[in-house]
Amino acid sequence: MSDSEQLKSRFRELYGQEARVYRAPGRVNLIGEHTDYNEGFVFPAAINLFTWVAIAPRSDLQVHVRSENLQKTAEFKLSSESGNANRDWSSYISGVALALEQNGFELKGADLLVRGDVPLGGGLSSSAALEVAVGFALLANSDLTVDCRELAQLCQKAENDCVGMRCGIMDQLASACCRKEHALLLDCRSLEYRTFKLPPNLRLVICNSMVKRELAASAYNTRRAECEEGVRILARRFPEVRALRDATMNQLEACQAELPQNVYKRCRHVITENQRVLEAAEALEHNRLEDLRRAMAESHSSLRDDYEVSSDELDVLVEIASRVKGVHGARMTGAGFGGCTINLVESEAVDEFRNEISAEYRRRTKLNPDIYVCNAADGVKRAD
Ligand code: ADP
Ligand code: MG
Repeated sequence: MSDSEQLKSRFRELYGQEARVYRAPGRVNLIGEHTDYNEGFVFPAAINLFTWVAIAPRSDLQVHVRSENLQKTAEFKLSSESGNANRDWSSYISGVALALEQNGFELKGADLLVRGDVPLGGGLSSSAALEVAVGFALLANSDLTVDCRELAQLCQKAENDCVGMRCGIMDQLASACCRKEHALLLDCRSLEYRTFKLPPNLRLVICNSMVKRELAASAYNTRRAECEEGVRILARRFPEVRALRDATMNQLEACQAELPQNVYKRCRHVITENQRVLEAAEALEHNRLEDLRRAMAESHSSLRDDYEVSSDELDVLVEIASRVKGVHGARMTGAGFGGCTINLVESEAVDEFRNEISAEYRRRTKLNPDIYVCNAADGVKRAD
């Protein structure tokens, strides 16, 4: 039985009705780290790990939802005020419903069944996959449609306001708008995007370092503050700099004496990283894989040395990967301090890559990495 048939059959047992099924993908960022909140560029791809949502309409204004992953049930009423933001799993769902309603969409009540293969909390954005799948399903269930960019924005608003997570737009936009076999270059200021075809023989291989440091949240906030300080200092001399996105390396050098060393380094990362994202997209467009590999390697070094958000474990994963034949790029992905690496690996080299990484990483860190071999997938769509 296919994934959607299984979910439909489970839905029948649970609610005694026929359902429609929708799915939205997780994502991985190929390059462009800590550039989103500096109004720069990111380059994610959706991956073929999905959150599936089965849905059928109800005659009242209730929404009932069950998560197979958590083995939990929740319910709420549409057209009601939001409660306080909280991190409960059901807030992602009621938050999306509320954001849609506040934007004028008249939703019907619904029964929902959710199942995700995106690991929860693993940095592959199960949260955005859940939001986007649920948002799309709730709209379709009410005979409504929406542009994928608008859906992404409403889902981001839901996570910001109702879950209380100050996330950027990349995750939701990737999950809503990506295309199979393509990566998506996103301008985080204008929200314009363009897709670029990935070489068909490359797999997106994600290695989880299995380390998540508590430090991550506070360090993230410090980095954001350092970037803001950089902009304030740069803007004194160059008023056109409204975000680090607007600054050049020449401007940064001109202000070096006024910038604290750490702020200077953070700015250097962001400015050069934006450049590398554009270079990586251009390299893909012209099939210059060596340039892509170099951009990813430099991105990792810059995150390690200038932005200082890597970890020993991530460095080890990248170092091992860089020595394996058939690897066309390896770097940490996500905010850092643990989490995952992304590796572009030739299909024929994947087995060897997996063996090499597992054995060598275990030898050096005593940890067993989770490894996901993915393809670039389509954004949200109907799946039955
Ligand atoms: P990530 O997005 O990296 O996976 P987050 O912490 O942002 O990590 O989001 C994970 C949270 O999203 C989970 O703790 C849970 O509350 C919610 N979530 C995601 N997928 C599901 C699911 N299939 N069922 C229930 N909750 C889910
Ligand atoms: Mg998330």
